[in-house]
Amino acid sequence: MNIATVIVDVPAKQTDREFDYRIPEKWTNIIQPGMRVIVPFGPRMVQGFVVGVKDHSEWNKLRNMKEPMDLEPVLNEELLQLADWMTREAMCFKITALQAMLPAAMKAKYEKVLNIIEEKKDRLSPIVLAAMGHRSSITWKEVIEGEHGALFQKEVQQGHLELVYYVKNKLNKKTIKVIRPLHTGEKLAEIALTFTGNAKKQREVLQYFCAHPEPISLKELLEVTHTSNGTVKALVKKQLLAEENQEVYRNPYENRIFERSEPLSLTNEQALALHPIQENIRNKEHEVFLLYGVTGSGKTEVYLQAIASVIEKGEEAIMLVPEISLTPQTVKRFKERFGEQVAVMHSGLSIGEKYDEWRKIHRKEVKVVVGARSAIFAPFEHLGLIIIDEEHEASYKQEETPRYHARDVAIERAKSHRCPVILGSATPTLESFARAQKGVYKLLTMSRRMNESALPAVEIIDMREELRNGNRSMFSEMLLTKLTDRLEKREQTVLMLNKRGHSSFVMCRSCGYVIHCPNCDISLTYHRFNDIMKCHYCGHEEGMPNVCPECESEHIRFFGTGTQKVEEELAKILPEARVIRMDVDTTSKKGSHERLLNAFGEGKADILLGTQMIAKGLDFPNITLVGVLSADTMLHLPDFRSSEKTFQLLTQVSGRAGRHNLPGEVVIQTYTPEHYSIELAALQHYDSFYEREMLIRRQSHYPPYFYLVLITVSHEDVMKTVATTEKITHYLRMHLSPHSIIFGPVASPLSRINNRYRYQCLIKYKREPQLHHHLHTILEHYQQESIQHHLTISIDLNPQIMM
Ligand code: ADP
Ligand code: ZN
Ligand code: ZN
Repeated sequence: MNIATVIVDVPAKQTDREFDYRIPEKWTNIIQPGMRVIVPFGPRMVQGFVVGVKDHSEWNKLRNMKEPMDLEPVLNEELLQLADWMTREAMCFKITALQAMLPAAMKAKYEKVLNIIEEKKDRLSPIVLAAMGHRSSITWKEVIEGEHGALFQKEVQQGHLELVYYVKNKLNKKTIKVIRPLHTGEKLAEIALTFTGNAKKQREVLQYFCAHPEPISLKELLEVTHTSNGTVKALVKKQLLAEENQEVYRNPYENRIFERSEPLSLTNEQALALHPIQENIRNKEHEVFLLYGVTGSGKTEVYLQAIASVIEKGEEAIMLVPEISLTPQTVKRFKERFGEQVAVMHSGLSIGEKYDEWRKIHRKEVKVVVGARSAIFAPFEHLGLIIIDEEHEASYKQEETPRYHARDVAIERAKSHRCPVILGSATPTLESFARAQKGVYKLLTMSRRMNESALPAVEIIDMREELRNGNRSMFSEMLLTKLTDRLEKREQTVLMLNKRGHSSFVMCRSCGYVIHCPNCDISLTYHRFNDIMKCHYCGHEEGMPNVCPECESEHIRFFGTGTQKVEEELAKILPEARVIRMDVDTTSKKGSHERLLNAFGEGKADILLGTQMIAKGLDFPNITLVGVLSADTMLHLPDFRSSEKTFQLLTQVSGRAGRHNLPGEVVIQTYTPEHYSIELAALQHYDSFYEREMLIRRQSHYPPYFYLVLITVSHEDVMKTVATTEKITHYLRMHLSPHSIIFGPVASPLSRINNRYRYQCLIKYKREPQLHHHLHTILEHYQQESIQHHLTISIDLNPQIMM
């Protein structure tokens, strides 16, 4: 087995295949599939993933691979296969799929060392110890250049040594000084006797180690022996003790103590939902469950107990939560139940922290990972369950290559592991609910809230009416009355401002002129903080004009409402109210999200004001009022899912009120009160919404009745863009079945970004067995032009964003 098949890290059409390399003698028997290697490629050295080893190659002249980058596979057999699947399904290069499965720390060129795992030190072979010069670590370079690769590998496989990446960022690298005796206790006791007189302190330290031969952190040692650093240094110099830097896991939750929580006794509904899942886990069967439970029905407890069954069987579980609701509160519920067995992965962690969490999974130190989208690639080998909470969230789809949907990856992995998937939501996507109706997924319903109270009463306020009655404020009379009432009762309110869509744009009140980005087809967003206007697509910034560029009127000002503006308004009308504001500006610092929520949870504010980010996952007993300031901003987006998204958001945010003993109320302000997604969200009638929306989807040939592919072409030259899109559209019309519907070429809703024009072609189809083939043909055809003339063609299968 001296030939390795390798996927090289050169993401291009021509190199998107396996290359054979000869394994040099020194590394035969070491190289395994799933390891990364350095190989020559043309004149360069590049990284690559070994996907197979074999005896023969059909190629005559093979080059030698240079050296391994790992001594253990970083991707297991199942993940390698998953990469094949993803390459097909997301239409990406295989190398892109492989890279997506590893934490960022391992992608970049970080320094690498092999560390001794302290407890296993005694088991190390003397040759390896000697090769390490009796230090506790050795650099990767030394391992590669030395002669004992195979021995090192064995130690790694047996868990005596560990390969660690040092992210070269002072903040991330966290080590502590550890002191270790270099002799046995008896020997030290003997030596200690020779220390007399003024070496008394040194003797005490040695005596400490006679009784406690384990390594101890320098800090602790100084404390327990009441000595100084100098004393310890002297003993190190005499080669009686050794001082070493030991890496500590950067534990983002280290200062937190989690009290253990016990499983709650389930309600009837919960038990009925849990039972079939547990049965599946027991029998190692694969099935997808759609857990459709209203907000506050206790879905999380069902997840927790399902996971407990998995752990009991010695298997592992992945729990996906949308980034936005991966709040400390959520993490806490899992840590309280499963303690140290939980790894957490989300974008708030530093590169180093994420890598540490990944390593805990790889080393099999944890049984559960709670994380956002990419945690779906957690390198578990005995998966017993995958849960996707809030399955309707758009963030489960990655919007850059590889454009995978975590739900599809979950189902694919669960099939290989023969384990169940739970998709949970109070507002499932139409796609998922339709599948449950057809019996593709198994539907589990929980229709009652834990506290048996009805869902909160919802009032819809017509803001046009308010205006007609002379109320020009952003608060309707009803909302203001209820806000005042809550302040008096010392209960809490959540105020949500729906920022998606166009807000805070600058408009001339005289002529209606709106200031646009000079590079993109989008209005600039006003930032009050530094009084500038900014483009959210290309980053263009400019100052506020004094007069309208069109008509020179002075009545030019920003329009729409930002959270800051609401905050100011609140300060005017309810000066005694304590407000916490949560938006991108106040939560950009690490940990600020948690701090603000904690403060609110501890009752340090009366009103939590924020964007969509507050709509989910909050569970505070004292919230009895939810106000939505502008329910309809999202309705007008050019996206066939805009009603569905509006319905979901309003339902979610309404669910924040009255989750415990106090009853809740919701006030929804809107300019389109008659819209069915607003009316039905107010009634919390998911089923009616589903039926209504399904009718529309059927009439207009949208999912779940049809599948979609969105092809977007972009180029600096508008003619070139149109012509290319035209050709693609034509090609598809010629080759796809007459049952498919092909739209285009048409300008994208965002028709220009960063001076590049964008046109699109939309395919709606039910069955197109040759579709992937045709799409590949298109990509191949334009490959050359893409590189030379910066023509971009992006193909999004099952797009979530239609812009
Ligand atoms: P969901 O995720 O469906 O919105 P949660 O899981 O957050 O609902 O549950 C709502 C509240 O009910 C939580 O405070 C939770 O601790 C509580 N709860 C859930 N299940 C039970 C149970 N079986 N007995 C008592 N309280 C429960
Ligand atoms: Zn004007
Ligand atoms: Zn721009």
